[in-house]
Amino acid sequence: MSFIFSLILGFIVVACIMVAMAGIKRILKLLSAEYGELQWRPQRNPVAVLVQTILSQNTSDKNSRPAFQHLLASFPSWKEVANVSVEEICQAIRTGGLGKIKAGYIKGALQEIQRRQGKFDLTFLKDLPVDQARDWLMQLPGVGMKTASVVLLFSLGMPALPVDTHVFRVSKRLGLIDSKTTVTKAHHILESLVPAANVYQFHILLIEHGRRTCKAQRPRCIECVLGSLCPSYEKFVGQPWAG
Ligand code: SF4
Repeated sequence: MSFIFSLILGFIVVACIMVAMAGIKRILKLLSAEYGELQWRPQRNPVAVLVQTILSQNTSDKNSRPAFQHLLASFPSWKEVANVSVEEICQAIRTGGLGKIKAGYIKGALQEIQRRQGKFDLTFLKDLPVDQARDWLMQLPGVGMKTASVVLLFSLGMPALPVDTHVFRVSKRLGLIDSKTTVTKAHHILESLVPAANVYQFHILLIEHGRRTCKAQRPRCIECVLGSLCPSYEKFVGQPWAG
């Protein structure tokens, strides 16, 4: 009896996942038509992306980019950054905000990479499964789930899905994750639903959609290309989608 129950439950779970995956394909098709097709292109090396992402935590790109450029211009190598004082790093990144905390994270992370790998190189992560590679990064100071996923996705093209505020909000409104899901859980759930080949596209398109249309305060549901399949449309507009 319990075997049959487990079997039925298994079928239901698989069926739900397949429905959600089909929904994601449709979402990506509609968003690509709206914002354009996106292909992953390799960015900087993983250590640079790691440092850049630590600098971008809790601040805008407008603040963190100049801080990163100034850091690169201030020291000739990552080895140098790992060996100077936190105060010197703090001085180099001061335009980025939270300088002292981030300087400590950057120095600590670089020292740990050197201690564990003997060099400032993270390309070996590409040969690990995503969860293992992310766990390795998350043992570094200042590196959480999102930062680790950014490094794996943007520098190494691995299917790790960073869930930022836009991805989190839009995914909830679209019913891909429920309202009680935590950000950490959302990483795992969305990664299980989004095909590996579409993770980069999903991440970028949901951010774009969150910035332009599905805004935090006043989502522009009437103009939204996802209106017909969004379970939140009626809540925001006051009536069901009518085309
Ligand atoms: S219909 Fe509204 S809530 Fe749903 S995705 Fe579009 S903007 Fe967001």
